[in-house]
Amino acid sequence: MMQQIDMSSPEFLEEMEKTKKFTDKVCESQGWVYSINEDVNEGVTLGLARHRLLFGKRFCPCFMVEPDESKPGKFKSSDNRICPCKPAIEKEIPETGICHCQIFCTPEHREAQIKEKEAELLAKEELKKVSKEESK
Ligand code: SF4
Repeated sequence: MMQQIDMSSPEFLEEMEKTKKFTDKVCESQGWVYSINEDVNEGVTLGLARHRLLFGKRFCPCFMVEPDESKPGKFKSSDNRICPCKPAIEKEIPETGICHCQIFCTPEHREAQIKEKEAELLAKEELKKVSKEESK
């Protein structure tokens, strides 16, 4: 069962602030940027803050965290993912431009996301125009 945390508690809000600074630093040090989906970014940041409070480390929010049997009282991520994780640094970002959780990406990937979004909006506009024409 998911352990509950009061997300409006001062403790959690303070951890959120620290986590935002942390993700800013990750971007800076790795040469990454945030993906354009702000809801996802917010969710991942919340998840990282939550894991830090519950388990003492910023385990990836997209992977299970479980007790580490070799170290009583400690935890481990099912894919050994502590942010910024090795698979993102070594594989996901170099190969696909974005990490598994979809918060960090390359500047080029972000540019491509922006273009894709613009194209989507344009297509929607066109569709609206066509259906307006048809309903005349
Ligand atoms: S996939 Fe890796 S880099 Fe991305 S948020 Fe999760 S732990 Fe961090």
